[in-house]
Amino acid sequence: MTRKERAIYIQKELEKLYPNPKPPLKFVNSYTLLIAVLLSAQCTDERVNIVTKDLFKLAKNPKDMLKLGEKRIYQIIKSCGLAPKKTKAILKTSKILCDKFNSRIPRDIEILETLAGVGHKTASVVVNQAFGHPSFAVDTHIHRLAQRWGLSKGKNVQETEKDLKLLFPEDSWGKLHLQIIFYGREFCSARECFGLECKICKAIYPKRRSKVITNKA
Ligand code: SF4
Repeated sequence: MTRKERAIYIQKELEKLYPNPKPPLKFVNSYTLLIAVLLSAQCTDERVNIVTKDLFKLAKNPKDMLKLGEKRIYQIIKSCGLAPKKTKAILKTSKILCDKFNSRIPRDIEILETLAGVGHKTASVVVNQAFGHPSFAVDTHIHRLAQRWGLSKGKNVQETEKDLKLLFPEDSWGKLHLQIIFYGREFCSARECFGLECKICKAIYPKRRSKVITNKA
């Protein structure tokens, strides 16, 4: 199979497995989505959803978040990990949104990336899931799977993102982001794998015998 043929096959299989993937983080508007994604760094989605249930009851917009203050935010999110850093980022970002953007979330990835605690992946998720803009957020799991499936030889998530964007139609990027993450969580979370276990790897690499070595992100 060529790389393109593998991509087409994989997309069909993922469609069968996850026809309607829903974003795993709970949010009620673009601001709460931004905060939820920011909180998800090195934390499970389940844990984020537990803390945001309380946090978003008190603050669904930057102004109310600023009113809550550092101590209160920290208390609510402390089980998320990296809580002191995340608390500061939430406050700093909320202040910038109030002062410069009239409390609205910018729709431009590059502008979003200038906010505290917001990297390229977070910005890509927000513009796609909040505004429906085409973007392909690549995390370490998607990076690993793209290599195991022979869709990219990227040395980092940026290179993998470029390869995946060339392979898949633009209107499927956001959905594929979720589908690949769900597949990774369900079947391909193991760090070491010979690439011989699941249906997809068996189909696209029927002669594969040796261990797949992946570039770390
Ligand atoms: S065979 Fe291994 S590498 Fe391939 S999808 Fe399954 S777990 Fe991942």
